[in-house]
Amino acid sequence: MRIGVMGGTFDPIHLGHLRAAEEIYWAFELDRIIFVPAARPPHKDHEIEASPLQRYEMASLAAISVPYFSVSPIELNRPGCSYSVETVREFRKLYGEESAIYFIMGVDAFQEIDTWKDAKELLSLAQIIVAARPGWRLDEVERSMTPAQRQLLGEPRCKYLKISEITSQIARRRYEPRLVLLVEMVSLDISSSEIRQLVKEGRSIRYLVTDTVATYVAKHRLYHPACKQADSQR
Ligand code: ATP
Ligand code: MG
Repeated sequence: MRIGVMGGTFDPIHLGHLRAAEEIYWAFELDRIIFVPAARPPHKDHEIEASPLQRYEMASLAAISVPYFSVSPIELNRPGCSYSVETVREFRKLYGEESAIYFIMGVDAFQEIDTWKDAKELLSLAQIIVAARPGWRLDEVERSMTPAQRQLLGEPRCKYLKISEITSQIARRRYEPRLVLLVEMVSLDISSSEIRQLVKEGRSIRYLVTDTVATYVAKHRLYHPACKQADSQR
């Protein structure tokens, strides 16, 4: 089985996440994509507004209409901080050694990967796919890595690909540990922080999230300043 795993805070999940996953699903001939909302991301806890369960529910609503998308509660069920390396270890056990795991992240996330727990191990457990994101340059990722970062990550090799040029042969090439695929694709200039800000200002978030997520945000009065405290206690 060929599985894409996309971790994130998803506060809330938006069309930028879904489009990146969709592009990668088709280009890499995957069998499924699993979104994994982080319950307690170590670097971001103070900024998160919706509860882990609410973020999981929104991701589930966004993924439900796509047969090859699913959402895993694995990080919600694990106590303590949410570390991607632990999730990938568990998926490896669950799906067996013959399965290929593609860990998907945006270029902004990849640029901080040296601060992640056991980043070097993560790079050898899964094939890393770095998705383009407006505002960040994929073609500068390799050059901007410092010697210390390279060493910490186990001297990764980066390969720059345009999604339209990924053939079946490239997509199914044997997994190479510490190979990082930097993939240029259609990327949408959408962020969860911008969506939270729009809601705070009472503005529309239609066409930035699925309608189901927009309805959920409205129904639970998420991201409204007055509701922040009450929601975070849930
Ligand atoms: P926030 O603004 O709260 O940080 P976000 O939009 O960056 O939210 P995250 O949940 O932090 O969303 O991101 C989860 C993963 O999805 C990260 O790897 C991130 O780089 C990637 N990602 C987020 N938005 C996009 C986008 N528009 N295009 C491609 N990748 C994205
Ligand atoms: Mg982010």
